[in-house]
Amino acid sequence: MTTRAGIIGYPLGHSISPAFQQAAFDELEIDARYETWATPADELAARVESLRADDVLGANVTVPHKQAVMPLLDEILPVAESIGAVNTIINREGFLIGANTDAGGFTRSLEQEARFTAARKRALIVGAGGAARAVAFGLAWEGVSEVVFVNRTPERAVELARDVSEATATETRGGGFEDIAGSDGVDLIVNCTSIGMAGGPEPNGIPPVEDLLGRGVLVCDLVYNPRETPLLALSRERGAFVLGGIGMLVYQGAASFEFWTDREPPEDIMYAAALKALM
Ligand code: NAP
Repeated sequence: MTTRAGIIGYPLGHSISPAFQQAAFDELEIDARYETWATPADELAARVESLRADDVLGANVTVPHKQAVMPLLDEILPVAESIGAVNTIINREGFLIGANTDAGGFTRSLEQEARFTAARKRALIVGAGGAARAVAFGLAWEGVSEVVFVNRTPERAVELARDVSEATATETRGGGFEDIAGSDGVDLIVNCTSIGMAGGPEPNGIPPVEDLLGRGVLVCDLVYNPRETPLLALSRERGAFVLGGIGMLVYQGAASFEFWTDREPPEDIMYAAALKALM
């Protein structure tokens, strides 16, 4: 029987997950197809129900459904429960399990690609949406000493700061972009907004962290299209270390693949396929 997995989101035109997940199935000669399941909100319940079928391995979930799928599932794994979002659904004989591989994907990329150990470091996270939540919990679980959150809508940053400190006892602060001024000396800056994304609201924009960019700081941009965002280009110019979002994307997908197949994901093949799909 040919099995299936797919990505659930809306709209989905930009997704490169099908390219690198299919490459992984093909490399391991698993008889499976990775499909694109564009799903508007009013079709979400039916889509999730369809995942219980025998031939479905599971799904990835992306914007805007990472929270909305949670009540539709039978079990939520603790990591996803803490983050408050599901990006991976696993079908175990009709029983649907929700997982989150975004946090681990981010910290794996930090360690593997930037050789950065988060323990006892200070981080500034720009943004307070789903990606910021995953990144923040990932860093907190790695033992970061402090996380400052700044967001266009300050209330969301304050709420996320409170959630992370309550769940992990990490020191946090949350506020608006004006609070960036008090964040001198951070070791890590992570852009978790869509500023700088091709086709996004501000493709040529840079989050207002210019004053913090310099030697000794690692600047990460979760945006992976383009690979070198305006933020990363400026950071590089100022002598900072830089890390783009493609590694997180591939590693979160590889962890999903492992949940579905119980096989070791061919990460190098997936990475190469992701880069090719972006070209
Ligand atoms: P989301 O939940 O919709 O959150 C969007 C965030 O961006 C919010 O903090 C929002 O601020 C902020 N924002 C949007 N437009 C802005 C603008 N013009 N100026 C300032 N802030 C703006 O989305 P998400 O899932 O967190 O994704 C955020 C970004 O991360 C996207 O670019 C996405 O592609 C990327 N991402 C990458 C990976 C990866 O694997 N590399 C994984 C997940 C996400 P408000 O709260 O004020 O609206």
